[in-house]
Amino acid sequence: MNRQYIKKLSYIFSKPLPFKVLRYFSDENFIFPFYHLVSDTVPLHIKHLYPVVSRQRFLSDLDFLLKHFNPATIDDVLNYVRNGKKSEKPLFFLSFDDGMRECYDIIYPILKQKGIQAAFFINPAFVDNKELFFKHKVSLIVEKLKNTNAHHIFSEISGILNAPNAHPERLTERIRQLGYANQAEINKIGVICACDFNGYLKKQQPFMTLEQIKELNDLGFHIGSHSFDHPEFRKLDEGQMRLQVAKSMAYLTKNINPGVVTFAFPFTDFEVPASFFNYLHKEAGIDITFGTAGIKKDPEIKHIQRIPMEEAGMKSAERVIRSEYAYFWMKLLFRKNTITRR
Ligand SMILES: [Zn+2]
Repeated sequence: MNRQYIKKLSYIFSKPLPFKVLRYFSDENFIFPFYHLVSDTVPLHIKHLYPVVSRQRFLSDLDFLLKHFNPATIDDVLNYVRNGKKSEKPLFFLSFDDGMRECYDIIYPILKQKGIQAAFFINPAFVDNKELFFKHKVSLIVEKLKNTNAHHIFSEISGILNAPNAHPERLTERIRQLGYANQAEINKIGVICACDFNGYLKKQQPFMTLEQIKELNDLGFHIGSHSFDHPEFRKLDEGQMRLQVAKSMAYLTKNINPGVVTFAFPFTDFEVPASFFNYLHKEAGIDITFGTAGIKKDPEIKHIQRIPMEEAGMKSAERVIRSEYAYFWMKLLFRKNTITRR
């Protein structure tokens, strides 16, 4: 049985229970939902990555959260970590990854109006639309391939991917799986598909500018690091991981100088060794780090797991958070709700 299936099953079993009961018995009172963007149109650089939350959905998510939890500040998060991750009051703290332009255009005005603080985790490489995130490039390529049946395009791509005679669907699947280390291939495939990444970047401006980020900081929102250019940390060696953190922290210190120093792992912290957490919290001077594993107990005292809110098939915050709590219970039964690291 896969994770999604168990989650769905837990959700169905939990349905007769009032939300309060579910939350109370989980003993996890402080939750950390995170998103990337909110938009009524689906940008092509996101279309093939994850579902885009509409403005209406976001507003009803906030209504649900505000009904069952109090909004927290970054100082509350710091206290929570200092108190051994215990919270008397039900609290939520929102965060938004990748520094997308919609954070400035759509999200912050809504949060400001509702009096909710949040964190924005940024990648210095993308700020000011200097560079397109490789995953965004993949989404643009997949979109192009969906609308073509030109044989020569697929045959050139199969050459680059070393997959002779592979079926177009199989090639598209391979492209979706390309990672940080395959950026040369992604760029070559982009050329073959006539994806003008730089033109797209200039025209769409998918990311916030430094000026906008500074404005959010001045308005009392928290700005944290999401690594320099969003690699998969589990595929890096310790030196490369340190460099990603150091470069992004130097940028943040120079431009924002946040009072609380935070780092949200790009993608996931899965398979990152305990020694690196030790480095982040003890040597690199990072106050709080964040992962994306949902509601889960984490032995790292300064590390918090967040809840991904943009999961396919999950149409509301209630649905996502109910599933998380129910799944947490289920894992509790099988003693699988605590993360272990080598
Ligand atoms: Zn990210």
